Amino acid sequence: MCKVNTSKVSLLAAVIWGAWAVPSWAMPGAAPVPQTPERPSMPVIIDPGHGGTDLGAVVKGLREKDIALAVALKLKARLKGLPVILTRDRDLYVTLDRRIVDSVDWGGAAFISIHLNEVKSKKMSGAVVYSYGPERRRGRRRKRRPSVPPMPAPPRVEAMESEFLARSIVKALREAGIRVEPATKSDYYVLKSPSSPSVLVELGFLSNPEEAVKLADSVYQNRLVESLAKAIEQYASERALRPEDL
Ligand SMILES: [Zn+2]
Repeated sequence: MCKVNTSKVSLLAAVIWGAWAVPSWAMPGAAPVPQTPERPSMPVIIDPGHGGTDLGAVVKGLREKDIALAVALKLKARLKGLPVILTRDRDLYVTLDRRIVDSVDWGGAAFISIHLNEVKSKKMSGAVVYSYGPERRRGRRRKRRPSVPPMPAPPRVEAMESEFLARSIVKALREAGIRVEPATKSDYYVLKSPSSPSVLVELGFLSNPEEAVKLADSVYQNRLVESLAKAIEQYASERALRPEDL
C-alpha cells in the first residue's frame, strides 16, 4: 500500500464536519469563493500524493511523490477541456487536511488522488482504484498504516458517485490493456471528502522491479493518463445528465 504519512496530520474532524454542514463560502459574512481561472466552478481536483518532506514510497531512487506529480501534471494538461485544480503543482508538502478542505472550498466535481504502491513482495503488479467503503483486510492494513484522525464517512450520494467514478477508471485502464484490480473499497482519509466524489488511484507497484521501470517511463505514464482522462471525461459528462438526488 502507499505509505500515507499521517505524522503531520492535524485536522480536527469537527472542522471538516463543520465545513460540510456549513461550507466556508456559505458562512455569514464569508466572502464567496471567487470564480477565477485558478478557482473555476466545479473543477476536477487532481491530488498528487505526498510531496516535500513526505516522499511516499521510495524504491531504488524512484520516489512516489515525483511520479505522482508527473502523472498529475500530465493529466491536467490532457484534461484541457475541463476545469482542473491540482492540490500541489510542485514538490511541496501538503497536509491531508488541506487537501480535503481545498476539495470542499473549491466545490470539486471529483477528487482524484494519485499514488503508487509498495509492498514486501516484488511480484504484485497493476493498478488499484479505491473509493470509500469498509475495508476487507482491515487487520493487515492497520499494521502497515498509522491511524488517522477520526473523520466521518462521506454522505451516501458522494460514496455512490465515488464508486461510480472508481469503476469508470478501472474500466478505462482495463480497456487500455493496463493490469488493474476490480474497484476496491477503503477508508483512506482522502476518500472522505464530504462534498466531492473521491477516488484514490494506486498507479502500480514500485516494489515490482519491472513495473517500477514502466511507472517511471513517460510513455507508460501517458497511457495511464489517457485512461484516467477518458474515465474522468466520461464521468463528468454522465454526471451532468444524472439527477441530483441520485
Ligand atoms: Zn501514497
